[in-house]
Amino acid sequence: MISVATLGSHCSLQVLKGAKDEGLKTILVCEKKREKLYRRFSFIDELILVNSFSEILEQRCQSTLEKNNAVMIPHGTLIAQMTSEQIESIKTPIFGNKWILRWESDREMKEKLMREANLPVPRPVTNPKDINNLVIVKRQGAAGGKGYFMAANEQDYDKKRNQLISDGIISEDETLYIQEYAAGVLAYLQFFYSPLKEEVEFFGVDQRHESDIEGLARIPSEQQLKSDKVPSFNVIGNSPLVLRESLLDEVYRMGENFVEASKKLVAPGMNGPFCIEGVYDENAKFTSFEFSARIVAGTNIYMDGSPYYSLLFNEQMSMGKRIAREIKIADASNQLDIVTT
Ligand code: AMP
Repeated sequence: MISVATLGSHCSLQVLKGAKDEGLKTILVCEKKREKLYRRFSFIDELILVNSFSEILEQRCQSTLEKNNAVMIPHGTLIAQMTSEQIESIKTPIFGNKWILRWESDREMKEKLMREANLPVPRPVTNPKDINNLVIVKRQGAAGGKGYFMAANEQDYDKKRNQLISDGIISEDETLYIQEYAAGVLAYLQFFYSPLKEEVEFFGVDQRHESDIEGLARIPSEQQLKSDKVPSFNVIGNSPLVLRESLLDEVYRMGENFVEASKKLVAPGMNGPFCIEGVYDENAKFTSFEFSARIVAGTNIYMDGSPYYSLLFNEQMSMGKRIAREIKIADASNQLDIVTT
């Protein structure tokens, strides 16, 4: 029997509940400090206890996963805590395309893939000297927005960067990525591409709540001006959003373009869940500043199914369950190698 394994964080509860609902065995790689939390959930069949997630590269974990015919579901914690080389060296089959995760972590590769997919991306600024509009300054990898800051010019950039270095939030030698700030309504568009059906499904939309940039908006401008604290974009939680129906056609087109571009640049392409992240401006024009090439935590909102999936499936279907369904169908038709890498 196939089992589904993932790291205990991010969206692991949703993923394993979905797998259990599909009749698959569930395994959680769990940090010892979180054992008590995850023992609360009866749909988790087995815990592999570790001190740190990098232990999944060790023989002990790998052989338990192998013995259980496990498929590993990658999520943001895997990307945040392990290097691309480490992820690529995992022997357990990874759901989706483990090679594309490097394209998510590396800012230049990310931009290349987004351009290939024809996504309208904000203008990158290669030298702080060239900052002449409001920009957002980002760190590499899935940092979750922590340590990001906004700057209006070079002087502002230097001041905030130095402050974050002295606060120990970023390091002196860290390469930061500068991009024009895009204002509008935030929308994180969640998709699933099934290589078995060769079809893009639109799952849902979420918004992220980020601290303390959101807290800033609750303070009168007088107090804002007096504060010299650099606000961060640290994700705290997510909430649901539905789009004007007239925007859906373009949403599907963006998802399909992204899948096509991925097939060209990083075989076998963008299989499984992914997310295109950006903002809609006052003319409902979308600008995309980011993608995630795996399940996003924003899908946790829809553990009982999303509005858009209720149009496609006559049952409650979470993203975790959709992943497990794909694995089950692939296994039954001897095509696991198509849905994993
Ligand atoms: P990211 O790591 O790129 O997803 O960025 C984290 C957060 O920063 C996003 O959720 C947005 O709130 C914000 N953000 C990132 N890039 C931009 C941009 N170009 N314009 C406006 N907001 C952005």
